[in-house]
Amino acid sequence: MTHDTVLAVNTWRPGRFMVIVAHPDDADFGPAATAARWIDEGSEAWLVCCTSGDAGADDWRQDPLELAATRESEQREAARIIGYAGISFLHQPDGALANDLALREQLVREIRTFRPDAVLCVDPETVFYTDGGVNHVDHRTAGLAAVDAVYPAARNAMAFPWLARDGLAPHNVRRLFLFWTNRPTAAVDVGATLDRKLEALRAHPSQIRQPERLEPRIREWAREEGERIGVEAAEVFRVVVIDEDEEPGADAAMAAEAAPVKPAG
Ligand SMILES: [Zn+2]
Repeated sequence: MTHDTVLAVNTWRPGRFMVIVAHPDDADFGPAATAARWIDEGSEAWLVCCTSGDAGADDWRQDPLELAATRESEQREAARIIGYAGISFLHQPDGALANDLALREQLVREIRTFRPDAVLCVDPETVFYTDGGVNHVDHRTAGLAAVDAVYPAARNAMAFPWLARDGLAPHNVRRLFLFWTNRPTAAVDVGATLDRKLEALRAHPSQIRQPERLEPRIREWAREEGERIGVEAAEVFRVVVIDEDEEPGADAAMAAEAAPVKPAG
């Protein structure tokens, strides 16, 4: 990671936001502490899982439908801990997620129904993490599908015209917050909600068998990101502004100021 990037301290809070991910547990490894903070401050949030994680086991004899049911119930509990208003499972196949028109239509339907100001998804440009490792193809696919659904499809009345005809009016999502990014532009101080993220991760026992080994790593990553803006813990995002605020500060939930801070490292 190029640590000479200027990271802004994010103070813009969406009144409504949607987290779109590939698998149950992605949202909790991802922006859970930011989601919890914004929800605590009054935002309404909705979680969308494109798959139900039906390939997320080491034993090929595992029944994929049973596994999907287990993982959906784990994700429902984690979402309750974070405070989401609700969750949608799109039941696409784990390991075979495709950014096709069928998925895009499902996502446009979700976006036009919940009408979020911001969508949080994986940065689809992250194929390799700078710290090492490959980003799962489903993660990249869900990220790109979310971007494509936000812009232009959700705001275009002529995209999937039967949706508008059925009453789902076009909707403008104003910002994207891309997580698991190699090019972060903004950081959210999550000192107050990092423990909730760890609690949400503990709600996924089928995936995380030894949470006591995971937690120090999650805390260390949050501490490293926090150091860059001078706080104890942070989550970082590549923020894409699609529509500027019409009147910055006019909406109580939208403080548009962002104070650039030179990172320490
Ligand atoms: Zn995943």
